[in-house]
Amino acid sequence: MAETMQGLKRSARCAEIGKESIGREVTLMGWVQKSRNKGGIVFVDLRDRSGVMQLIFENGSIDEEGFEKAGKLRSEFVIAAVGIVEARSGAVNPNLPTGEIELRVHKLRVLAESETPPFPIEEDSRTKEELRLKHRYLDLRRPDLQRNLMMRSRVTALTRNFFTEEGFLEIETPMLMKSTPEGARDYLVPSRVHPGSFYALPQSPQIYKQLLMCSGYDRYFQIARCFRDEDLRADRQPEFTQIDLEMSFVDVDDVIDVNERLLARLFREILGVEVSLPIQRMTWKEAMERFGSDKPDLRFGMELRDVTDVVRGCGFGVFTGAIEQGGSVRGINAEGLGAMPRKKIDKLVSFAKEFGAKGLAYVALAEDGSRKASFAKFMSEEEMDALIKAMDGKAGDLLLFAADQDKVVFDVLGNLRLELARGQELLDKDVYRFVWITEFPLLEWSEEEERYTAMHHPFTMPMEEDLGLLDTEPGKVRAKAYDIVLNGTELGGGSVRIHQDHIQEKMFQVLGFSMEEAHEQFGFLLQAFRYGVPPHAGLAYGLDRLVMLMAGEDSIRDVIAFPKMKDASDLMAEAPGPVSSRQLEELQIALTTEG
Ligand code: ASP
Repeated sequence: MAETMQGLKRSARCAEIGKESIGREVTLMGWVQKSRNKGGIVFVDLRDRSGVMQLIFENGSIDEEGFEKAGKLRSEFVIAAVGIVEARSGAVNPNLPTGEIELRVHKLRVLAESETPPFPIEEDSRTKEELRLKHRYLDLRRPDLQRNLMMRSRVTALTRNFFTEEGFLEIETPMLMKSTPEGARDYLVPSRVHPGSFYALPQSPQIYKQLLMCSGYDRYFQIARCFRDEDLRADRQPEFTQIDLEMSFVDVDDVIDVNERLLARLFREILGVEVSLPIQRMTWKEAMERFGSDKPDLRFGMELRDVTDVVRGCGFGVFTGAIEQGGSVRGINAEGLGAMPRKKIDKLVSFAKEFGAKGLAYVALAEDGSRKASFAKFMSEEEMDALIKAMDGKAGDLLLFAADQDKVVFDVLGNLRLELARGQELLDKDVYRFVWITEFPLLEWSEEEERYTAMHHPFTMPMEEDLGLLDTEPGKVRAKAYDIVLNGTELGGGSVRIHQDHIQEKMFQVLGFSMEEAHEQFGFLLQAFRYGVPPHAGLAYGLDRLVMLMAGEDSIRDVIAFPKMKDASDLMAEAPGPVSSRQLEELQIALTTEG
């Protein structure tokens, strides 16, 4: 039977008690991790969010009734225990902060009993994620998840302090709004008062934060929930959190400066890791050419090399064909992997095909000086020598080549580089390599829509020196946009915004929007800009990803209290779910399919 607290007061959490408390009486409350009944003595591991404390119940130190109750304790019972801290009588456990002490209990209350949980509550659980998510309230008791969420809370607390010290104001923006221009699908909310009309949930606070700059708030930040109805993708969440900020009267360097100091503070205070400032910067072009990616992982080398000019006149049609079509030939030197068995190479070829490669050409350089090339018969010895030399190939290396349009070549080799690094375990989670990627292209050509789309969003400022190209070669215009990348993951991104009408108008033109269409979508922003808009710029981080990397986790679900599955469903609450016909009638919504 559950008892009440009856005036008991907890004196500390389990792991907050150390050797200095030996001899003192303390009251602990928490969950029974496990209990062992050894006849005259019962051992219980008591767990709370701080950690575990060993409790000892011995006949004599506790009265008969208490001892009997202790003997019946089972996993996940909630108890209060009053006792004296002692040095451990048995083996000291060096893995626990409380491993040298234990609590000899003289008063026990059972505050709640528990049914047997559907899976054991333990670190590094091997229980299937579906089952854990269905009972997330139990899963969240696991020490690893508790540590992650405590870290997340510290990240947001430190972020708030930092921005406040730097003169930023925390301002909330609406959840019910008109759709935002971030490019994903909106979640819609039907309006009851305006039947047939819908709000959109924010994909980001972008428009509102720009309005706040127009209104003179100068520096804004928010820890903002965002919603994007994207197609199923591993490790995306339909709702996620951004650390969002915007600043007035600034340019690229100012945004970068304040954000590097934030990152350095977070990594120092939470992980004890010194981020050396300034963080390296790399242009988008350089990142693509060297790493095949705009979020390069700099923890290892294996950079791409452009061998287009070396193979231009060679006899291998795959190479020359790609070049004739305006593409390129590039390679990676996987040093020391020259002896890779054929089967494994074939696996790399299939992997490359997943990213659009038609094939993958290779040269394996054996230790004995012999070489095997998938295209040997199409090339003369001299041509092969020149190619190997251009790749700095030595005995024992494996050279891999892709030939296609640049976009495909980068994608294939960029991903192959990561795959090879994973295979060789080169991705050390305790190494943190930050890089700013700058000078992104302003526009991207969309084959589907047959028009340019904004790579970041339509308010991103072109680089001043490229403004002239907007009329002639819009595809070549670089943007004042930047991403912060850590170990191959994009942590955040932002841009300087357009604050001059004529540039904004031109931008809409290039994007194929008429001014009417632009006004229909963002009219209030354009209107606001007519009344004095300061130059402004900003950035947003994906908080979930940031905490994931800091916690050394592989999935953002492990740093979100109540995440959704890949298909955007909540297994515990069973959302989304049908609603009553009355609710639908009120909204004047009729379904075309049965739910
Ligand atoms: N709103 C942008 C995003 O969500 C970030 C920014 O430009 O500040 O990616």
